[in-house]
Amino acid sequence: MKFGGTSVATLPRWQNILELVASRRAEGARVLVVVSALSGITDALKQMCAQEDKGKRIEAAKAIAQRHYDLLDHMQLAVPGTLADRLAELAQLAEDGPSLLGELAWSALVQAHGELMSSALGSAFLTHSGLPTQWVDARDCLSAIALPNQNERTKLLSAMVEAKPDPALNARLAELGEVFITQGFIARESQGRTVLLGRGGSDTSASYFGALLKAQRVEIWTDVAGMFTANPRQVPSARLLQRLDYEEAQEIASTGAKVLHPRCLSPLREPRVPLLIKDTNRPELEGTFIGPEVREHAPSVKAISARKGITLVSMESVGMWQQVGFLADVFANFKQHGLSVDMIGSAETNVTVSLDPTENLLDSDALAALASDLAKVCRVKVIAPCAAITLVGRGMRSMLHTLSTVLAEFGQLRVHMISQSSNNLNLTFVVDESVVDELLPHLHELLITAGALRTDDSALFGPSWQALYGSGEVLPPAASWWRDGRRADLLKLGAEHTPRYVYHLPTVRQQARELKTLAAVDRLHYAVKANTHPAILKALAEEGFGFECVSPGELKAVMAVVPESAPLLFTPNFAPREDYEWALTTRATLSLDSIYQLEHWGEVFRGREVVLRLDLGRGLGHHEKVRTGGSGSKFGLPVEQLDAFLRLADTHGVTVRGLHAHLGSGILDDGHWGEVYGQLASIAERIGSVTFLDIGGGLGVPSHPGEARLDIAALDKVLREVKAAYPHYQLWMEPGRYLVAEAGVLLTRVTQTKGKGNGTIRYLGVDTGMNSLIRPALYEAWHEIVNLSRLDEEATALFQVVGPICESGDVLGTDRRLPEPQEGDVMLVAQAGAYGKVMSSPYNLRDEAEEIILE
Ligand code: ADP
Ligand code: ASP
Ligand code: MG
Repeated sequence: MKFGGTSVATLPRWQNILELVASRRAEGARVLVVVSALSGITDALKQMCAQEDKGKRIEAAKAIAQRHYDLLDHMQLAVPGTLADRLAELAQLAEDGPSLLGELAWSALVQAHGELMSSALGSAFLTHSGLPTQWVDARDCLSAIALPNQNERTKLLSAMVEAKPDPALNARLAELGEVFITQGFIARESQGRTVLLGRGGSDTSASYFGALLKAQRVEIWTDVAGMFTANPRQVPSARLLQRLDYEEAQEIASTGAKVLHPRCLSPLREPRVPLLIKDTNRPELEGTFIGPEVREHAPSVKAISARKGITLVSMESVGMWQQVGFLADVFANFKQHGLSVDMIGSAETNVTVSLDPTENLLDSDALAALASDLAKVCRVKVIAPCAAITLVGRGMRSMLHTLSTVLAEFGQLRVHMISQSSNNLNLTFVVDESVVDELLPHLHELLITAGALRTDDSALFGPSWQALYGSGEVLPPAASWWRDGRRADLLKLGAEHTPRYVYHLPTVRQQARELKTLAAVDRLHYAVKANTHPAILKALAEEGFGFECVSPGELKAVMAVVPESAPLLFTPNFAPREDYEWALTTRATLSLDSIYQLEHWGEVFRGREVVLRLDLGRGLGHHEKVRTGGSGSKFGLPVEQLDAFLRLADTHGVTVRGLHAHLGSGILDDGHWGEVYGQLASIAERIGSVTFLDIGGGLGVPSHPGEARLDIAALDKVLREVKAAYPHYQLWMEPGRYLVAEAGVLLTRVTQTKGKGNGTIRYLGVDTGMNSLIRPALYEAWHEIVNLSRLDEEATALFQVVGPICESGDVLGTDRRLPEPQEGDVMLVAQAGAYGKVMSSPYNLRDEAEEIILE
């Protein structure tokens, strides 16, 4: 059991340690406790070493001693003899300075005292608390091995140990007792000098011991409940990784997840000792289990990590590239300077490598020496500080297609290097260090949205850090009406007849009321194309919504059910002239979006007031097919044609009363609508006649578990701010999907299953598919799918959920973990209230889904 710096720094933590060790003893295990130095002590010791002034060194040693006295005070313990000896030795080392032992050996010995002291203290506490604990000097058990190309520095400060099972050590300990405490971070080399295992190396000590003793298990107790999909301090929505195999965990650790020292997994592989990561303060939380077996699961990115302090060395050949042995000459220099190369990129005349600070003791001297030697064979450029951002997951190369939005994000940055590891476990981007902190949470969210990080697989991904540790502000999934109160109704409806769409009106109302809290918005229109069911139109009219229609058919459907007083918008696109002529006979406010309409049919609009839909030059949204801005999309009048449009409007006596822009759907960034309002407002200032600005819809609905909801309160704030800057315009919005998506589900029944590829690929067939719900096929949209008949059974196997349509694209969901199904089970496809039924088709002449309303 290894306890890290924060886990050993206070009395309450030591009380937890006592309980944990006692509970393992109660299970009959013998326990070896490996401890770090109290948090901050290794840094303090390092600083002491850097101090040239003897007096200041002695003072520093005293302050360090005081930290230990204070803790003993809390424990109401006298200073034990073992600790007093250590403190005296440290005081002597401070007094002596490096001259006797040499700089590096002295510094290693000084730093080793952190762990020597904490373990002495811990031994006294545990023994005193009734758990007799033997203090073991780790240096007597861990022998550093000499490695080729090690220099003095790496030998003393970043040593390695060969940890083969050692029955003699086991026997020796068995004679001594049942509970032991020893130090992390330190070992001894062949000449008897104390050496260090590198910063954070206590984890690796625990693994060495685990391998030497062939332990049942290595437990790493720290300040977080395991390894997460990203550093949880940086990305609170990061999810707990419940199970990992050695290789993946190793990759996540060595690409930046500080929770495990990068070297701590390799000693465990051969003896197949599993490793568990747990939170000392919250032992009830499950933690991360790392072991040899690979579990079958959907291909998924497992984590995103970042390493700062990366140095790139770019080497330009001076006409020698073709020469045999050039690379050997270049790399000989790295070898000679004891530097380990991380990534490599090469071209005809250039080779660029990265140096990782956790694997190398990089300082400016080391780099300058390297550069000057390299200069003899090539032109050298050192690029620093950089950061490496790494996506980790088994089979990374087969996941590239899921990464398009993530890759797009790098389009706006300077990417110095891209590297994919030859073990197919990682994809790394080297960028400027300064961009990382802001970028990482954003990329993590994009990975989830894009379905690249498959947080829906609950066998793999546990709760988010926020859910485990947060202030309880995590919003519960809004669309759980079908899971909770109405499940029995749905099962009955599904047993009667499928396919069926079921809409829950209270959820529609709840969403409507949430949007009505947007104080800056003067008028909300429901974009009826999402769902034209009359009961939904009526409910939203009752909530005071206006209606946005894109065709005469929609206008007629709305006018048939809503009162005369409800405002109507008609915003067609590439509609024929008759549509406009007809719409002008209704009370709808009309929107134009091209020069053509005024140029050729000007007389139709004479004397009218219109809305002008603009293309602001960029599109946004969850998929290319839902982005409605930019030259690649057919919507809106490009801003550069505005003057021509206004001249034509003048000619025909047409007044532009409103401006409108809608950039796409599925937008979860609250700042977006503020920008649109600001842009439209500044254009409106030029026109003069405008009284309202319609900033569109596109409010995203999170679909993947773990994806953050749009923050309506934040949106409210943004809108109030921009409106305060341009208070003279009315603000209109036109949400569609946001109001109805979560209110609707599609019920369908299991027809059969099929296995392919020796049973590795399993298909689960249901009685409807893309004919009822085309979003997965059209937009690669992700809809949660559950077996409603077996909601309480464990989801065990992965299925491709497919329909009966004669198209390979007829897939409702890929790689879904579900319970073993049976013919006739009722399946539920969630978030199907928007763009479901309205986009369904009679394709293959299969019956269309019925629609049912739940009040
Ligand atoms: P200890 O002192 O117990 O060894 P560390 O500070 O070395 O603890 O490691 C735990 C810390 O690692 C966490 O508090 C967290 O800030 C950081 N960390 C970085 N990346 C990850 C990740 N992917 N999962 C969990 N923790 C991470
Ligand atoms: N105390 C050492 C350090 O701070 C080793 C460790 O805590 O893992 O780097
Ligand atoms: Mg650590």
